[in-house]
Amino acid sequence: QAKEVGRNTYQFFTEQRDGKMERRLNLEHGLRKALANDEFFLVYQPLVQIDTKKIAGVEVLLRWKKEDEGIISPAEFIPITEETGMIITIGDWVLKNACLQGVKWHRNGFQDLLISVNISVRQLLEETFIERVESILSETGFPASSLELEITESTTMQNMNEALPILIRLREKGIRISVDDFGTGYSSLTYLRQLPVDTLKIDKLFVDDILTDLKAGAIVKTIIDMGHNLDFCVIAEGIESCKQIEFLLELGCLYGQGYHLYKPLLADDLEIHLQNNMVIN
Ligand code: C2E
Ligand code: MG
Ligand code: MG
Ligand code: MG
Repeated sequence: QAKEVGRNTYQFFTEQRDGKMERRLNLEHGLRKALANDEFFLVYQPLVQIDTKKIAGVEVLLRWKKEDEGIISPAEFIPITEETGMIITIGDWVLKNACLQGVKWHRNGFQDLLISVNISVRQLLEETFIERVESILSETGFPASSLELEITESTTMQNMNEALPILIRLREKGIRISVDDFGTGYSSLTYLRQLPVDTLKIDKLFVDDILTDLKAGAIVKTIIDMGHNLDFCVIAEGIESCKQIEFLLELGCLYGQGYHLYKPLLADDLEIHLQNNMVIN
């Protein structure tokens, strides 16, 4: 009896594993053709000044419409593009198209709009990354000072020795650097002091619980104060309610992003919101 159960369990797990491998291979195969098949597109989620509700910038988020399945989440496909190295060409595509869109918006009267692009550590550490960013900026005519690159805290801190000089050079070119998912990684205070960074984005995990968990609230307050003391701009990610906004304002947080403010939108839909919603400096 026990043997029988054991065998079934084993069979169950191998089937589950085979299923996962099959899915993974299927996605990988699909990804190899996705650029050529024109299956990627970008959506833009506003970064908002939470007291005035003005849009200060937009985060660029990649979407993949797989031919036979519909939209696949970047949380599922980005890791595959990182492991296979495909993120290098896909990342260039994202950056170039984001800059082209940014140029359009700047021309249409939204001169100060910041465009924030997610960058994998694999891209950042790729030998020719800085040159490629520069050539995309000059090709598209998008100003370096309106570009922000988001690097995730966990992966960057694990590669700090290699990442640091690259971040410094990017910043010397006038590009802004933002630390994404802040609070979930391994930032030591020592690194934070040397980090050539403009913005900290407090991870949604903490923002989720600020109303219900005193400790989450205390952590968020601490990050906000520390960020401001170090002259960083601090953004709360994943805001889903009006109550959260009120609380964040009490804590002195100036910027936010989340479904309660705006969901990620197609460029044309976003432009309608931009019409009378820009931060006028
Ligand atoms: P991220 O950079 O931390 O982006 C924020 C994610 O949270 C986005 O998910 C966004 O749609 C989602 N989000 C924003 N506000 C809310 C909210 O109020 N509630 C909830 N539940 N979610 C919210 P998305 O677009 O699925 O992207 C997931 C992750 O995939 C991103 O996390 C980023 O790490 C990665 N990613 C997306 N696009 C790119 C890209 O072009 N390049 C790279 N390297 N990574 C990307
Ligand atoms: Mg991001
Ligand atoms: Mg994030
Ligand atoms: Mg994230």
